Amino acid sequence: MERTQHNVSADPAGTSPFPRPRAPLALAAAVLLLAGCATLTPAQQDKLADYKLFAHRVTQAYGKPDIQIMVGDSNAYGDGVSLMRPDGWMILSPTVLTPVTGRYAGFAYSRDFAFAHELGHYVTNRFGCGPNCESAVNVEAVKILTVGRPDFWTSEQRAFNHSVSFIWSLKELQDKGRPVVKGHWTACQEIADLVAHYPAYGGKTC
Ligand SMILES: [Zn+2]
Repeated sequence: MERTQHNVSADPAGTSPFPRPRAPLALAAAVLLLAGCATLTPAQQDKLADYKLFAHRVTQAYGKPDIQIMVGDSNAYGDGVSLMRPDGWMILSPTVLTPVTGRYAGFAYSRDFAFAHELGHYVTNRFGCGPNCESAVNVEAVKILTVGRPDFWTSEQRAFNHSVSFIWSLKELQDKGRPVVKGHWTACQEIADLVAHYPAYGGKTC
C-alpha cells in the first residue's frame, strides 16, 4: 500500500498537459485532499515501481537527487494529474498508474511523455516560466525518454515520434473544447515548436 504524505504543499509551477487548478485556494484544497490514503492494486504498484526506476535513471544521468513520488487522489486536480515540484516531489494520481485502455490499449508506455515532461521540469530546474519554458521542457522530455526507458525508446527519433503523438492527442482534446492549460501554448503551437527543435525527424504539424 502506498500512503500519501501529509503537509506537503502542492506547487503550481511544474506543469503538464493535464488540467490544473488556477487559484491558490484550489491548490490549498488539493493539499488537504492528498492527505488520504491511496490503496494501489498490484498492477498500479508495478507501474509505480516502473516509473520510479524510470525517474532514477534520469536523475542519475542528470546528476540530480532522486525524486519522491506521492500517490494521491485530488478532487481539485481531477483524474490523471501529474505534478512536479521544485523540491523533488512528484504527485501522481492513481489513475495515471492504471493500465492503459481504449485507443492505446496494449501500448503500456503511451503516457511516458507526460512523465518525462514532469521530470524535465526537475532536471532542468525550470518551473512556472510560461509557454517558452514549457516547450523547452518538451524538447528535453524527448531526450529524457531515451534515458529513462532506453530499452523501449531506443532512439531519439522514436522518442520524438511518441512525444509529438502525445501532444497530438492533446490537440484532439482541445479541438473538442478542452481548455489550453495555463502557462502552455496551444497543442498545435507546442507541436510546431517541438518539430522545429528536431528538424531531422520530421513530424506532422497542425
Ligand atoms: Zn510542464
